[in-house]
Amino acid sequence: MSATTKGTFVITGASSGIGALYADRLARRGHDLVLVARSEDRLRALANRLEQETGRHVGVLVADLGDKAGVAKVEAALKADKSIIGLVNNAGLGATAPLLQSSVEAMEAMIDLNVTALTRLTYAVAPGLVERGGGTIINIASVVAIAPELLNGVYGGSKAFVLAFSQSLQHELADKNIRVQAVLPGATATDFWAIAGKPVEQLPQAIVMSAEDMVDASLAGLDQGEVVTIPALPEVADWNAYENARMALAPQLSRNQPAVRYRVRKIDAA
Ligand code: NAP
Repeated sequence: MSATTKGTFVITGASSGIGALYADRLARRGHDLVLVARSEDRLRALANRLEQETGRHVGVLVADLGDKAGVAKVEAALKADKSIIGLVNNAGLGATAPLLQSSVEAMEAMIDLNVTALTRLTYAVAPGLVERGGGTIINIASVVAIAPELLNGVYGGSKAFVLAFSQSLQHELADKNIRVQAVLPGATATDFWAIAGKPVEQLPQAIVMSAEDMVDASLAGLDQGEVVTIPALPEVADWNAYENARMALAPQLSRNQPAVRYRVRKIDAA
């Protein structure tokens, strides 16, 4: 831990793209870091650069979060390191192919990383943050969380989980001084697209944001106290209207009688 640190952030998927940008920005904000991913060389190169440029301490944890042993290694680090004040759950995998062209094994691997690892790491970090009086959990979801028709359905479902889990976490932990933010990026110029089966160059450039702009906007949303940040959405009022409509449904969703429109059969039988 460096002498003047503002506390340590753990960032998963920090070897490239969005995660590497979070590492850069959080180091410049005065945080020590632990960078997690599989590519040791890329993590070490980033850690060395950030240490030189910012004077922060930047540790590297090489782990495959698609694998139980890899997740357990990071969970152990999250539980042991008392300097940790934040977690960026960013490591994730996408897919663009529809169901009939996808292998279910690849879909399961995506759930392991996008859902299971993110959940386990959150469970590993949260009690320590509460014990130490507070902290921050940033979960990288996607706009497909609310627009699942756009890409592969399991990817959309995994990100809908991240959004719902984050909203629930915020509900449960806000009074314990834990900040939770779900970030819903639209298309962002990273390796993600090539890995998911469609290089980013094939997308209309009008819908693609740079990773730098995406991360800077998300951190601005964090600073503004947002629980959900959609970097590209022009009017926050549109998101608020969507959320208000959802909240208005809540008191009507569980009742002792079916809705009148579903009572047709009973009326027929009488
Ligand atoms: P990226 O450049 O491909 O980065 C993905 C990161 O996750 C890399 O650091 C990768 O590192 C790491 N990772 C992948 N599999 C891993 C595993 N099994 N274990 C540990 N780390 C693993 O893509 P990105 O765009 O920055 O993606 C970051 C997050 O943003 C993802 O959750 C993605 O779903 C989300 N997102 C992206 C977009 C977009 O358009 N780019 C839009 C919405 C949401 P290693 O390969 O070294 O392990």
